[in-house]
Amino acid sequence: MGAIRIKGLEVFGHHGIFKEENMLGQKFIVDADLHLDVRKAAKKDEITESVHYGEICDFICEFMQKNTFKLLETVADKLAAALLMEYDLLWWVDLEVKKPFAPIPHSFDTISVRANRRWHKCYIALGSNMGDRENYLNDAIARMEGNSYCRVGKVSDFFNTKPEGPVEQEDFLNGCIELTTMYDPYELLHFMHKLENEAKRERKIFWGPRTLDLDILFYDNNVQADDRLILPHPRMHKRAFVLDPMMQIAPYAVHPVYHKTIEDLYHELPESAHYQPAESEDEE
Ligand code: ADP
Ligand code: MG
Repeated sequence: MGAIRIKGLEVFGHHGIFKEENMLGQKFIVDADLHLDVRKAAKKDEITESVHYGEICDFICEFMQKNTFKLLETVADKLAAALLMEYDLLWWVDLEVKKPFAPIPHSFDTISVRANRRWHKCYIALGSNMGDRENYLNDAIARMEGNSYCRVGKVSDFFNTKPEGPVEQEDFLNGCIELTTMYDPYELLHFMHKLENEAKRERKIFWGPRTLDLDILFYDNNVQADDRLILPHPRMHKRAFVLDPMMQIAPYAVHPVYHKTIEDLYHELPESAHYQPAESEDEE
């Protein structure tokens, strides 16, 4: 793929935890690796296929000047995210913000913080079985689209499905979407919980009815498990209400634990388990 590297870009900014720093300002130095497909630009030899490093330098300076943060950590992390949001061709930004005149009583070359953000490919399962189910799902997708750390890709049809588990409850409406995000897995889970809470979801009964359920199916090829988060989602490979919509948007996605495609997993379920896409409730 390749990268553009900027080294030693000087910016005068006002970041720091001391009032004096915020008032007087000081010199900061930025090093950045901006990862993108340099082959595309090389093939055509056109700047439209790349990003202009002069513009990136302007962007970094402007960002560091118009914002004032207390911590170098914040400057570095937010700057990495801002660069990814601004320049579509970038997929990974790794940078270091240095503060050579940090106000501490020691002799040193420089103090710095490194941060990196990149786009990750995820699949999210959505479900609802209370109230205006279609509206809850569409609203959640719109809110993901409205978040600058997320980009919604393919969206499946919604499927009318039967509830599973011991609790007697209404039918579900389920769907899946492709989501590209620069959140890490826990930040993404936190965002999903926020959307569930905004849909007034109450966790009264385990596996009970819900206005909105958002599960992270895949996060890149991550395989991880702890009390808070299990990836891939531990039950997805057995659920028709997940595999049916996934079959529409990502039949070739490979489950990183079972090493099977969605299509393989789909065909492992009995034919009678599968669902048909629901008619849109608006059209009924
Ligand atoms: P379920 O979706 O299984 O019906 P909940 O939505 O109530 O249950 O989720 C229970 C908990 O599962 C969440 O609080 C979350 O911490 C945890 N969890 C573990 N792995 C995942 C995942 N991949 N996606 C979403 N939640 C997960
Ligand atoms: Mg859930």
